[in-house]
Amino acid sequence: MTPDVFCDQLRNHGRRVTPQRRAIIQVLAETAGTHPTAEQIFTRVQATMPDMSHATVYNTLHELVEIGLLLELGLGVREHRYDINISDHAHMVCLGCGRVVDVPCDCSGVDIPPEQAQGFVLTERHLVFRGYCPDCLAAMEDE
Ligand SMILES: [Zn+2]
Ligand SMILES: [Zn+2]
Repeated sequence: MTPDVFCDQLRNHGRRVTPQRRAIIQVLAETAGTHPTAEQIFTRVQATMPDMSHATVYNTLHELVEIGLLLELGLGVREHRYDINISDHAHMVCLGCGRVVDVPCDCSGVDIPPEQAQGFVLTERHLVFRGYCPDCLAAMEDE
């Protein structure tokens, strides 16, 4: 999704597109596929907008997650990761360096039948694979 399309969607949700929000969206688009942390997003935005506050970045990220334009991933690594790719996909997580990689995956077949859902209404499913990336494997072999 380009920043322009993203901003249109934000307006469609009745939200204002401020210069600060635009800068954050720009960084999200630039870092697509890398699943940055909020802190990494903040650092990049601040490079172009030195006045940007932590609160603005965190609040904007939460707002985007709330309206469904951004994924917040709790992956068992230290910090939440943000993902501008909201299409159905799975993730591979490196237990060594924390790298998070997209895996195209049709998760629609993964489901809990209603009779086993114990009254839960499911709103989200998320498939995560954990392991070690090639770089970490190579580093382990060198030791
Ligand atoms: Zn790794
Ligand atoms: Zn992803």
